[in-house]
Amino acid sequence: MIEILSSTELPRARQAGALVAGILQTLKGRCRVGVNLLDIDRWAQDLIAEAGALSCYVDYEPPFGRGPFGHYICTSVNDAVLHGLPHDYPLADGDLLSLDLAVSYGGIVADSAISFLVGERQPAGSLALIEATERALSAGIAAARPGARIGDISAAIGSVLDAAGYSVNTEFGGHGVGSTMHQDPHVPNTGRPGRGYRLRPGLLLALEPWVMADTAELVTDADGWTLRSATGCRTAHSEHTVAITDDGAEILTVPG
Ligand code: MG
Repeated sequence: MIEILSSTELPRARQAGALVAGILQTLKGRCRVGVNLLDIDRWAQDLIAEAGALSCYVDYEPPFGRGPFGHYICTSVNDAVLHGLPHDYPLADGDLLSLDLAVSYGGIVADSAISFLVGERQPAGSLALIEATERALSAGIAAARPGARIGDISAAIGSVLDAAGYSVNTEFGGHGVGSTMHQDPHVPNTGRPGRGYRLRPGLLLALEPWVMADTAELVTDADGWTLRSATGCRTAHSEHTVAITDDGAEILTVPG
């Protein structure tokens, strides 16, 4: 199902987006060496509750996970890239941490992910991975406008990742957002321009390029949720929720 927001719903989507972005920045500020992934999860739970929002994750039970998820945020460290189930792990200097958060506020969902290094160490290639996902995300957003097609976004994202030397996995990608978190249309992180659903004002999309340094193959962790690179290499993930407007795309997941 594809939902199109009305003009009266867009302000609520902006509020949801600002909330998600604010929580992610707060959590990033607390992610020092020694902080446990379970601390981050508890902080996320508290911040979501304080904001009067609802977690999209805690009871989520999709076909691709061993559900229900049971936590409030995805914490993916180093070789973990998507759906990282928070567990008892204290962050170490140089860890590459991805936080992925979706909440519902006023009946509208916003979904965003950030990747960053913890502490002082900058292990080789880690910043390049993060920057590639951020540039790919920017390219995808720039390609999102009314009349363009999903394939235009996919091609824009994929061309940045390809030029940066990463092979792209298409098992998981971006998605429509609205009253629920995962909706149509699917937005693969590579594709051909001019193909797929034609974008319309009022459509919300979560665009989310993610990469693994030297492979496109995922493996599922024994926890049934966390997806890791098959080679153990480092990974990164960047995501924004955007609204298609009359003349382009507005990024909703920016701090208010
Ligand atoms: Mg997300």
